[in-house]
Amino acid sequence: MHRLTLWIFIGLALGLVGGLIFGVKILVAADPLANIFLRLLRMAIMPLIMTSIVSGVVGIGNAKGLGRLSIRTFGYYIVSSILAILTGQVLVNIFKPGAGVSLGLGQAPAELNAAQQSVMDLILRIIPENPFAAAVQGEVLPVIFFCILFGFFITKLDNNRRELLSSLVNASFEIMMKIIHLIMWTAPLGVFGITARIVAQTGFDAFKPLGFYFILVLVGLFFHIFITLPLLLVIFARVNPIKHYNNMLTPLLTAFSTCSSMVTLPLTIEAVTERSSVSHKIANFGLPIGATVNMDGTALYECIAAIFIAQVYGFELTFLQQMMVVLTALLASIGAAGVPMAGLVMISVILRAVGLPLEGIGMILAVDRILDMFRTSTNVLSDSCGAVIVAHWEGEPLTPISLPKK
Ligand code: ASP
Repeated sequence: MHRLTLWIFIGLALGLVGGLIFGVKILVAADPLANIFLRLLRMAIMPLIMTSIVSGVVGIGNAKGLGRLSIRTFGYYIVSSILAILTGQVLVNIFKPGAGVSLGLGQAPAELNAAQQSVMDLILRIIPENPFAAAVQGEVLPVIFFCILFGFFITKLDNNRRELLSSLVNASFEIMMKIIHLIMWTAPLGVFGITARIVAQTGFDAFKPLGFYFILVLVGLFFHIFITLPLLLVIFARVNPIKHYNNMLTPLLTAFSTCSSMVTLPLTIEAVTERSSVSHKIANFGLPIGATVNMDGTALYECIAAIFIAQVYGFELTFLQQMMVVLTALLASIGAAGVPMAGLVMISVILRAVGLPLEGIGMILAVDRILDMFRTSTNVLSDSCGAVIVAHWEGEPLTPISLPKK
């Protein structure tokens, strides 16, 4: 195992034990460590996304290449998300975790009102009225949209100016990666701080009535992680899943503790390019988009959660309504930002689509933070598998992780 990964594991374990033993007293140490690490990562996100997307698109070079890569990348994102949703749908319909459960409604999350948006709102959100304002507010999709255009038109400039601008963006991207290398070494302390904080602050009583639902989401996520994604890797990329997963441990542990695909993005790019040997062209383009658009774990969880809520309310969903859940779970996972609890808030889109009361979200709040850890790791893993598969489709060798030739 990589030395840094080992240290992150140690940080996680110490955080767990420390949080259990010392309770809230550990916050004196845990809070500053967690905050420093999270701020460092957040500091890197926007400049990384900008330089990464522009340099990726410039590297792809022309409209045909960009079109092909987009279709392949989005093709993978949609297929893997739908497979995840169907896994969730089958499980929740077979085991019916909500049937006969009676739950006091908890408090609905405060951000819920902000999230009551239609599908059209989600689409409009992609086009920035002002790309700089979007960047300042940390809105990722509009920034990506603008950077794709900007990068694309760099490739249309005359030779001299194209060379000049592309070496400028490539150099800026390299600088960002160097900063990220540095930040990575603070990850063990950061992960310690975050884990200790969660353990110290989470009460476990709330888990009991939701136990079956909680376990079912985990079963679905593990099925996706250990069966579906490895199969996709072997079939479509001829890659050894164990080797690739091993390369991904640092971002996976970071995703697990931070609950944010976006915050983990710098480490995901690092691992996918430097360890699983995907080219920067593919990773720089696909991973920032994947971190906000491709959320298999979130999609699976949302499907189970929405149908669970229907079961608790005693609603029998018709076939059409079930299909509606699948479709809106896909859209909601695409629309969810890669930040903590985004998936929970987006369930309101599904509940609205099938006519269920929004307060239902209050019921599942208690176990959301822990589920978020698992679904965020699933999201990040799926992004990385997408990069590997698309790289294989684009003819890249992927020597460190490929299966031996027959
Ligand atoms: N926290 C998740 C992520 O960043 C999104 C979610 O809440 O499901 O990928």
